[in-house]
Amino acid sequence: MSIDHLALLGALGSEASWERLDEFHPDGTHLWSPDAPIALGWHPYTRSSLWQCAQCSGAFLRYTEYGGYYVEERIRPLLADLIVNPEHS
Ligand SMILES: [Zn+2]
Repeated sequence: MSIDHLALLGALGSEASWERLDEFHPDGTHLWSPDAPIALGWHPYTRSSLWQCAQCSGAFLRYTEYGGYYVEERIRPLLADLIVNPEHS
């Protein structure tokens, strides 16, 4: 897909949540599984931003992953069915 048509709506996380690195995967998914829960307040959504496509109005989440020797741009569709808001233990 092209990301040229994406417009920034805003950040999902806050300054306070930035340092949270725990993830929420009750069903054994991993970071970027297509069916991973979009857990608000949990990594990587604490560091994700919300974008909207001008062509199809679809909403997408973007997250830039900084490794030791790489920077990788991650993007996934914002699927309402996957959004959860679980408590941290
Ligand atoms: Zn689109």
